[in-house]
Amino acid sequence: MLPLNFKIAIASGKGGTGKTLVATNLFHSLSKTGIPATLADCDAEAPNAKLFFKSKEESTSVVTQKVPVIDESKCTYCGKCHDWCNYHAIFFLPQPQVIKVMEELCHGCGACLAACHFKAITEKDVELGVVTTYTASNHNNLVEAHMHAGVYSPVPLIKAGIQAAGDHQMTIMDAPPGTSCPFIQTVARADYVVLVTEPTPFGLSDLKQSVETLREMKKPIGVIINRAGMGNQEVYEYLTGENIPLLMEIPFERSIAASYAQGKLITEADTLWKSIFLGLLDKIHVQWK
Ligand code: SF4
Ligand code: SF4
Repeated sequence: MLPLNFKIAIASGKGGTGKTLVATNLFHSLSKTGIPATLADCDAEAPNAKLFFKSKEESTSVVTQKVPVIDESKCTYCGKCHDWCNYHAIFFLPQPQVIKVMEELCHGCGACLAACHFKAITEKDVELGVVTTYTASNHNNLVEAHMHAGVYSPVPLIKAGIQAAGDHQMTIMDAPPGTSCPFIQTVARADYVVLVTEPTPFGLSDLKQSVETLREMKKPIGVIINRAGMGNQEVYEYLTGENIPLLMEIPFERSIAASYAQGKLITEADTLWKSIFLGLLDKIHVQWK
């Protein structure tokens, strides 16, 4: 039995491979066992896990970030704040004297504030998005991080979403696709990472990148192959060669795709799938021990 505060990230190197299908169905199956669980939708740029559950909103919190405000009447145009900004978020020209904060690039690190010796910089709060907690139809919590359009990085929202999910129950995290900062931020909090891929050359290429990153992070991993039966054998050969456990296969079937497209859970429609997803937890436990 996995510890009650265990965190599983469901991730993939690219979007559209089926990680939300896995995350939502695993959450649903887990809930049916009576084990307290939370589904944290960390794909803050395009969260969609909520679509699969009837849910009731419980609370919403706005996530903000500090960004600098430059008082040009106090600014000497020394350029130090520009030099200290690692994110190129301050546009600066010494002649003619121009200085501007590009808020969409700012990470709120505060370095410019520390750099300025002329008290020309103060800070204001900028809204990045919202984290909403719902009670899902299975009586467990669903936490959704949702970034506003035009915001540069979902990382602060992901952090807030994972924090809102808490540590008192098993948490399934639907990670953002790719291997950049939002992915890292999510999997860093996971005890185990399930990578969802498909048996195609693109799937394999993205899988390799994810595996390399997660090995660097020393995270235990297993793989689910979605749309099994299409493509070729290269993903299977790669998993064998790298000694990576294949946890589950989801066949390339029209009925599964149709059910997903209609916002339906396959574990609700077919109890066999519920058993298969619960078996996934057992396999994760064996791998993780
Ligand atoms: S807070 Fe950090 S990221 Fe934002 S402008 Fe200042 S130095 Fe750059
Ligand atoms: S460090 Fe301060 S004084 Fe220098 S350019 Fe930046 S805001 Fe102006």
